[in-house]
Amino acid sequence: MIVGTVKEIKNHEYRVGLTPESVHELAAHGHDVLVETGAGEGIGASDADYERAGATLLPTAAEIFARAEMIVKVKEPQKAERAMLRPGQILYTYLHLAPDPEQTRDLIASGATCIAYETVTDSSGGLPLLKPMSQVAGRMSIQAGATALEKAHGGRGVLLGGVPGVLPAKVTVIGGGVVGFNAAQMAAGLGADVTILDRSPEVLEKLGTYFEARAKTRFSNRANLAECVAQADLVIGAVLIPGAAAPKLVSAAMLKTMKKGAVLVDVAIDQGGCFETSRATTHAAPTYVVDGVVHYCVANMPGAVARTSTYALNNVTLPHALRIADLGWKEALRRDPHLLAGLNIWDGKVTYEAVARDLGLEF
Ligand code: NAD
Repeated sequence: MIVGTVKEIKNHEYRVGLTPESVHELAAHGHDVLVETGAGEGIGASDADYERAGATLLPTAAEIFARAEMIVKVKEPQKAERAMLRPGQILYTYLHLAPDPEQTRDLIASGATCIAYETVTDSSGGLPLLKPMSQVAGRMSIQAGATALEKAHGGRGVLLGGVPGVLPAKVTVIGGGVVGFNAAQMAAGLGADVTILDRSPEVLEKLGTYFEARAKTRFSNRANLAECVAQADLVIGAVLIPGAAAPKLVSAAMLKTMKKGAVLVDVAIDQGGCFETSRATTHAAPTYVVDGVVHYCVANMPGAVARTSTYALNNVTLPHALRIADLGWKEALRRDPHLLAGLNIWDGKVTYEAVARDLGLEF
């Protein structure tokens, strides 16, 4: 199969669909890989790296869209890219169609076969192609929080791990799923005093078994939340209610009970945020202060560590890309119901029920 990857053109997107190592794997399977010049710049992969891996470099995205049978990307295709898709071409990338009727309309009109990373499933009911980005965001949330706690960034001047003779910072993690687990791992690793709140007994049990004495777990209810938030130097918001906006667990009134210079990192901001006072920020201006509390609410945290994020994403997307290229998309999806769950648009129709329902389209 002819597989193509292009330079991402969405604002501030530095990741890339295929690493040189992934190109090497595809080439070893006998596939032709086309890569746009400069596609890997944002992750420090040069054109020469791609050439050595077996890719053919082409100077424009248009040439790649014209020749490739499958396009592998990171972000949803932008308007100019959607115009270059053609009937029968496979598009394999994050799409997030439900809130995006314009993109959905264009993809329907393109006649392309669109497989969305975010709806591919696994045997434990998880979303394995979303998971690495939650791992990245969870781990990053502690770095971001630690920086924001510094005086120069508006924080109360507390070092997460303390030093011998001085107590460490108190870190409260709300939600113990993928983001929360990774945040707690980082914070505990730095020697902070970590408490994780969740409302799922299974999650709390798993966390208790894993962390033992290195982190405390508490059931998430109003009273426990209020107590932990008031005592914390750093609070990480990491809750998710699938398919719904994040619940506002930390109210504006609770914020007033917090220490001046404490920090909130609202990772759940992409679902609206779990602090009442959260509003989305960018990497260029990541924080703002309300009632003396520093808020960090960047909606695309993994973008800041594009290299790590790209490699983490490729680890989970490449096996499916290889199967699609080896078997053809129809056979690959027929053999794997989890990959089939990724099919969002085919032959001018929406094939993913939740997207069709949310947009009022025929399914
Ligand atoms: P997850 O499903 O693995 O975990 C969510 C956890 O929240 C679950 O364990 C659930 O039991 C818990 N929860 C639900 N309601 C709760 C409550 N009232 N109190 C305490 N816990 C509660 O989800 P995840 O992958 O960890 O993602 C968490 C959030 O981070 C999502 O909103 C996701 O979209 C977001 N995210 C943001 C970025 C970013 O760049 N900002 C990146 C990746 C993920």
